[in-house]
Amino acid sequence: MSKILLFTKNKNRATLIGENLKNFDVTSIEDENDFLNFIENNSTDLVIIDTVNLKDCVNFCRAVKFSAQNENISIIFIVDKDVENKNLFLKYAHFFVTEPVNKEILFATVNSALNLKKSLGDLAESNADLSINLYRLNVLNQTVTELSGALNKTDFISIMTDGIDKSLSYNLCYSLTFNSPEDITLVINSIHAISSRLEEAIKIQAILNYQKAFKIELSSDDVKVIKNIKHKAIEYDLNVLNFDTSLQEININNKFFGIINVFREKDFNNDDIICLQTLVQQATFPLQNAILYEELMEQNKKLEETEKKKSEFFSIVSHELRTPLTSIQNAVKILLSDAFAAVLPEKAKYFIKMVERNCIRVMSIVQDWLDSVKAESGRLDYKFEIEKINPIVDGVIQTLTNLADEKQIQLSFNPTENLPSLYIDRKRVEQVVTNLVANAVKYTPNNGKIVVSSNLIDSVSMKGMNFTTNKDVLLSEEYVLVTVADNGPGIAEEDIPKVFEKFEQVNGTLSRSVGGTGLGLFIAKKFAEVHNGFLWLESVVGKGSNFYFAIPVLAEDERYEMQLKHDISDANKDKKTFSLLTFCENKISEEPYLIEFIKKLESENILKKTIESRCFYTETKERFYYSFYDVNMNKQVVHFIVQRMMEYAQKDNVLQGGKKIYWSQANYPEDAGDSEELIKKSKKLLKEVL
Ligand code: ADP
Repeated sequence: MSKILLFTKNKNRATLIGENLKNFDVTSIEDENDFLNFIENNSTDLVIIDTVNLKDCVNFCRAVKFSAQNENISIIFIVDKDVENKNLFLKYAHFFVTEPVNKEILFATVNSALNLKKSLGDLAESNADLSINLYRLNVLNQTVTELSGALNKTDFISIMTDGIDKSLSYNLCYSLTFNSPEDITLVINSIHAISSRLEEAIKIQAILNYQKAFKIELSSDDVKVIKNIKHKAIEYDLNVLNFDTSLQEININNKFFGIINVFREKDFNNDDIICLQTLVQQATFPLQNAILYEELMEQNKKLEETEKKKSEFFSIVSHELRTPLTSIQNAVKILLSDAFAAVLPEKAKYFIKMVERNCIRVMSIVQDWLDSVKAESGRLDYKFEIEKINPIVDGVIQTLTNLADEKQIQLSFNPTENLPSLYIDRKRVEQVVTNLVANAVKYTPNNGKIVVSSNLIDSVSMKGMNFTTNKDVLLSEEYVLVTVADNGPGIAEEDIPKVFEKFEQVNGTLSRSVGGTGLGLFIAKKFAEVHNGFLWLESVVGKGSNFYFAIPVLAEDERYEMQLKHDISDANKDKKTFSLLTFCENKISEEPYLIEFIKKLESENILKKTIESRCFYTETKERFYYSFYDVNMNKQVVHFIVQRMMEYAQKDNVLQGGKKIYWSQANYPEDAGDSEELIKKSKKLLKEVL
């Protein structure tokens, strides 16, 4: 029954109204203070104030309104017919009835006022619900965004429980997740500390829930416990287990991952449960990614290890094979030397030569194997030096002339004189040319013809060439082009790309009959790429093939960059870290060569990538320091950079006489967080080396 509180000093009116509103619980009060006290201490739905002949009416009405509005109470005034201050009623009352009070009008007004109160109440409630839902939606959104950036499962659980905490304000929440049989983690998040028996009880409950959900036997010893406690001063005991609770399963791709159980002193309603379910469900999408990512990283690690082992295995095998082979070769050499020439019968010499040839063949197969494995894993070592190409090609021709002679093949070399020097790894370039010429000899029939030539060509002519590599790559100004042309069987157009692939032998029976592994051109192409060069071929079946090997002619600074790139990538492979400090006399403004050099390295991403923000310049009155920190470079690379700096400096006569650039290597100071600290350490280092 709705409760009505009536204020009137008129006893007759009190009786009359009481009779008229029989269906309601009406309390009548005459004193202002009693009336206000009653409102504060009792629940009331509606107040009726008889303002007729009421002194200090305004203040009283204001006080009533103030008390009533907190409780969402409707107010009706009974007013004089000729009342002057109408504003008063608009301000403080929801309704008013005028004298003389008509029974029907009063009844209708009371009903309207009560309906209004109910509607206002409903509105306030749904507003509160709306704001809670909005808040939760916001939390969900935030949580999902955060989760999408989380790439490991531990982060995922902590972001999810944080989201649940924000939305549901739990007292305690635990998650039991199963990464692998060896990795089962129970994370307990609690507002207060937890007693040891509560911890044990949670553990048992979690395991039981887990077993029920996923039908997997778990022993309590398998579970690793992580506790996150907000306030340690108070301790929860077993009573927490009597709080309202909601348990959710975490499934990923229909596979179990874990459970999450939330405890709250205040009971959960339907909306709370839906909110919890949504959070857990939404969170599993990013978790799938996180798991995939972790698996991928794991696979990558395994692959890397396998690759390393493979490379080590090949190194060992090739070493084991090469040692006895070298002994055999040496013995054969002695047998074929002048000392034995007179003693050995011709037949024996014939077989010993056969042994020699086959030794060379096995050696080259072993070498090819090793190189291909190393080239694939990027573990080949290079030694770049300034070299001329013609002597290298000449040397290869000399070595292979005997082989060509055996087949009466005419092998010649047409060099272009005065070709520019190249910055190359002599051994690797020799290997490429040897492979091309040896192939030509191998596949060209008896009495054939092979012409090797060397030329200088510019980037415009290079663009017109028929190589398949992306032509948009930045071409050097000039290239030295080595061409090996034969009049052998040729290679069909559709087979051309295949010949550079591993273990590919295209003209099957012929390749088989002449022997080979199908690795030579694969490795040769890798070597060409390492030199920023190109390897390609043109061929007509039945007429012959032209193999082209183009090596860029590099300017001096380009050579340094190339070397640096290789050295840095080598150092990166070994995951070495170190720091370098270089400094020279004069201020930076007086060392433009250095700025130029460093800028160039940075613009080409050579330094930027590895050094990032840890590189800085410092100027003092008389010295300029340049420091690289945390660079993944080895000692040789540091030395190289410093050497180059000095060469630059000396070339431009910036530094004359004496050793003006010093360098020092030191471990990157772990504790040095900001650049100021680094500068301090640099200065200390400077003092040490000076
Ligand atoms: P292989 O050890 O078999 O010679 P390569 O990688 O050096 O391996 O060559 C791959 C294949 O390319 C050869 O098996 C052969 O079929 C083809 N090939 C290479 N050079 C020539 C050539 N000058 N003439 C015809 N075919 C060639």
